[in-house]
Amino acid sequence: MTFENFGLCDELLRAVHDQGYDTPSPVQAQAIPIVLQGKDIMAAAQTGTGKTAGFTLPLLQRLHQAKSDHGRRPIRALILTPTRELAAQIAESVRVYGKYLPVRSTVVFGGVGIKPQINTLRRGVDVLVATPGRLLDLANQKIAHLSHVDILVLDEADRMLDMGFIHDIRKILAMLPKKRQTLLFSATFSNDIKRLAKGILHQPVLVEIARNEASGQVTQVVHPVGKSSKRALLSHLIRSQAWQQVLVFTRTKHGANRLTEQLGKDGIQAAAIHGNKSQTARTKALAGFKQGEIRVLVATDIAARGLDIDQLPHVVNYELPNVPEDYVHRIGRTGRAGRSGEAMSLVCHEEMKLLRSIEKLIGKQVTQVEIEGFAADTGGSEEETTTRPAPNHRAPRRNTSRGQRNTRSTNAPSRRSRNSARPAR
Ligand code: AMP
Repeated sequence: MTFENFGLCDELLRAVHDQGYDTPSPVQAQAIPIVLQGKDIMAAAQTGTGKTAGFTLPLLQRLHQAKSDHGRRPIRALILTPTRELAAQIAESVRVYGKYLPVRSTVVFGGVGIKPQINTLRRGVDVLVATPGRLLDLANQKIAHLSHVDILVLDEADRMLDMGFIHDIRKILAMLPKKRQTLLFSATFSNDIKRLAKGILHQPVLVEIARNEASGQVTQVVHPVGKSSKRALLSHLIRSQAWQQVLVFTRTKHGANRLTEQLGKDGIQAAAIHGNKSQTARTKALAGFKQGEIRVLVATDIAARGLDIDQLPHVVNYELPNVPEDYVHRIGRTGRAGRSGEAMSLVCHEEMKLLRSIEKLIGKQVTQVEIEGFAADTGGSEEETTTRPAPNHRAPRRNTSRGQRNTRSTNAPSRRSRNSARPAR
């Protein structure tokens, strides 16, 4: 299967070729022909699967084919997405894939000045990428006119609902023409998503990429560790394994700030990205990370959602997420588009229950490797810390204290020699 098989126009094929893609990803192979036929889709695909091109390429082709009979340029395609970063990334993809087509696009999101957005919209755009809040604001001010939208994309729909955008989304939906093509992408199909889909999709074709297909390239490992040793272990891993780029997840904004500070004290350049940071600070941190100036990006789930960072080899769960699905989203930041990646979770005693829920969701046990010198805490009872290794892996020692041997994992062979070095404290 090649991109030529889809019957995409030369302008799009050239843009795809410029990106260096030879083979469509599974979600692209499934979604592109369906979208080109004008059908609605309900797709379970996470970020990292190539879903952006999966909807952008056919969307651009359809806009290009359908002659606009309106004098000025009304918005004909609307892409709604939960976070500012994701909106900016999708807008960049629309720009890149549409660079040889006479299609105008822009992006609007909150946290930055509205004036430039108003000016761009007044000049007219064909494709608008937006976060719900700012779009609603612009629509209420009669700046964004949504009555000619032919194609609506709801990207990361589950996260938009999690973030409380449902009311904004419903208001936006009410401004759109009833007759349109709707593409809904969601990492999970909760009942809320199904309810939303039922009201807005017309005979949708289901596109489902197996959960593991997206994270198939990702090696997952759990490092059991005492809560108070997590920071030292993280610094040790970064240094001893010479990680150049790592994305670290914390559960709270406060935790992200604190960890960033502590890493700084350890001499490791880190920046935090979360909802309390100004848009300028978030953009600066992300740019610094992408350019390799910042070694560690510490993020909360919401801020990290959908981040597309090329060749991110390591993701660390400094704290496990409360919602097991978030674990899947987090590790999807690495091992993207066929590359391999490593996802490590630093898990203390209190989090073992969360780990079990995650393992239930992903349908497998994650190999546990205790790092020498960073003992797991027992939480008081040795029995409770029983760890369950994956088949063929030796169980980690319980109650290992600093200096004792650590567990070896056949899943992470190169770890053996590296881990036997004494940790830098
Ligand atoms: P997405 O899931 O849309 O965020 O895409 C994840 C990453 O995969 C992005 O960096 C894309 O540039 C890249 N990508 C998308 N489609 C392909 C493809 N067919 N071949 C190789 N890389 C791709």
